Amino acid sequence: MALAEKDIKEIEELFEKLGSMTLEEQRAKAPEMLKKLSPEQIEFIKQQQGGGQCPFCGIAKGEIPAKKVYEDSNFIAVLDINPGNPGHVIFLPKEHIAVLPQLSDDLTAKAFVLVKKLSGAVFDATNAQGVNILQNNGAVAGQTVPHLHIHIIPRFDDDKVRIEWDPLKLTEEQFEEMQKRISEKTKDFGKKVYDVSGNLVEEKENKKEEKKPEKKEDAPRIRRRRA
Ligand code: AMP
Ligand code: ZN
Repeated sequence: MALAEKDIKEIEELFEKLGSMTLEEQRAKAPEMLKKLSPEQIEFIKQQQGGGQCPFCGIAKGEIPAKKVYEDSNFIAVLDINPGNPGHVIFLPKEHIAVLPQLSDDLTAKAFVLVKKLSGAVFDATNAQGVNILQNNGAVAGQTVPHLHIHIIPRFDDDKVRIEWDPLKLTEEQFEEMQKRISEKTKDFGKKVYDVSGNLVEEKENKKEEKKPEKKEDAPRIRRRRA
């Protein structure tokens, strides 16, 4: 993508500033600084960082052939080229987003509804006895393509799909410590957004709750007998 020299200079200056910061400062200030860039500048950075070579971006743009089973303006679902079973589908946002915590709440809600419907379609089309919804975030979690995607895998008796772990034995204290640490992160749900490492990436302002006028239909209907 061709970008004006002044726009590229702005990007370079931003990265210079970020480079002179500590990791903590970067985390705190980067979202605000990136907001000042135009969509064209953001797209330019993505291309520079390899977004242009991402195979799933290629599929989303129709540049890499794939067996499409669903598409709308935000998402696409295609058959996995290395399926666990016939009918194994991967569902992805068209925008290059690396991991689930980076997806907007709005698109996450839309995605989950579509995954639910796709799982029904896969069930019916393959006569599966079960379906796994699998989503890997980060290489250590088994993510091999760094573009967010969700697997929809039909399951059959005695198939070759293995999703398993060795259960650990935790002490009561270890369970409680985890409960405390995760609950601490969830108490501001709706206001704070964390990345996969638990770092705060976005803090939304508190919106005043508007009280909606009660709809007539919602009010309980009480039938009175005429005297
Ligand atoms: P994951 O290990 O969760 O990152 O899964 C990536 C999945 O994408 C694997 O199951 C691959 O077989 C699949 N995959 C990689 N490239 C393509 C492609 N060009 N078309 C369809 N599926 C693909
Ligand atoms: Zn991508």
